[in-house]
Amino acid sequence: MNPPEPRDLILRDIFTLGVKVVRRPVIRGDSALGTTPQPEPLAGIHAATTLRHAASRAVADCARYAREDGKTWTEIGAAMEPAHGEDSAFLAVASQMGRGPTFAWPCPACGQTVIDYGPEAGSPEDQETGHGEGCTRLAAAIVAWNARWEDGADE
Ligand SMILES: [Zn+2]
Repeated sequence: MNPPEPRDLILRDIFTLGVKVVRRPVIRGDSALGTTPQPEPLAGIHAATTLRHAASRAVADCARYAREDGKTWTEIGAAMEPAHGEDSAFLAVASQMGRGPTFAWPCPACGQTVIDYGPEAGSPEDQETGHGEGCTRLAAAIVAWNARWEDGADE
């Protein structure tokens, strides 16, 4: 059995939210082939946009755990559907808080809340502010960043 289509899951969730059901022809304008349950349109829009907002929050929550676990924005973007580049992935979950887009996550090494300014900020020292004094995670990120440039590797 195939997993359910995301569209069917969303429709099920819309009904689960208690939206009024209306019957519509399976083929628009032709009731001869029967009807199918559909959400009342305006209530359906309300429910679907509520679910879309909740899905965006779920993406941000998973991205926060991914950053906490040491995943890069490149890896986070690759996990998105459709796939995003690192900058686009960051911007998809970042908040606008005055100094440009930021994304906060807890550093498991130093216990501080890191304010992440995204891949475009450059080195880990510029990208991740808020690490505690002597944070081993930040130190490792700096070593990896420097090695990346010494290898003459990508961009
Ligand atoms: Zn830290």
